[in-house]
Amino acid sequence: IKYASRVRKETGIDVPFSFRSGGHGISMASVNNDGIILDISKLKKVEIVDINKGLVKVQAGAVWGDVAEFLNRFHLVISSGDFGDTWVGGLSTSGGIGLLVRSFGLTIDHILAAKVITADGEIRSVDKDNEPDLFWAIRGGSSQIGLVTELL
Ligand SMILES: Cc1cc2nc3c(=O)[nH]c(=O)nc-3n(C[C@H](O)[C@H](O)[C@H](O)COP(=O)(O)OP(=O)(O)OC[C@H]3O[C@@H](n4cnc5c(N)ncnc54)[C@H](O)[C@@H]3O)c2cc1C
Repeated sequence: IKYASRVRKETGIDVPFSFRSGGHGISMASVNNDGIILDISKLKKVEIVDINKGLVKVQAGAVWGDVAEFLNRFHLVISSGDFGDTWVGGLSTSGGIGLLVRSFGLTIDHILAAKVITADGEIRSVDKDNEPDLFWAIRGGSSQIGLVTELL
């Protein structure tokens, strides 16, 4: 993000900049022509934080099908999309409507905290107490706000 900012400053050109998790966004907002694309699809880690509380940490470059398969081993599930090949980053920051929505709500209903990199290049850990406005904002419009790298 800092690199993109430097390129813009040094060239004086408003170089297009996008970030993408899996590229499944139908609006094509995660790609651009002749600009910079920050692809985070290698950040795929999924880990159990507290099995009794059902707390799970998921990196935004993971694929929902892989997340579901991993969680199934622990008899856990996260309400996400009904298609396994969408990515965590785009789906979980734009709502997340799937087969479990009627019983368990949207994906964003279950996000307790996130790690997000804002346009100034700062890495921020946000939750309901720390930077609550930013926490609220990433749950339904993050591409305007910053790059989400990790969700709890
Ligand atoms: C075949 C198909 C089936 C689908 N089924 C469902 C479904 O059942 N339920 C549902 O809710 N949605 C569904 N969708 C929509 C899908 O959830 C969205 O298109 C989602 O944005 C895809 O996420 P992605 O990370 O793969 O997309 P990307 O194209 O990588 O990103 C999409 C948008 O999110 C932004 N973004 C991506 N990663 C991040 C990040 N880490 N931090 C901040 N912003 C980010 C991008 O900049 C872009 O604006 C489906 C889409 C397809 C193509």
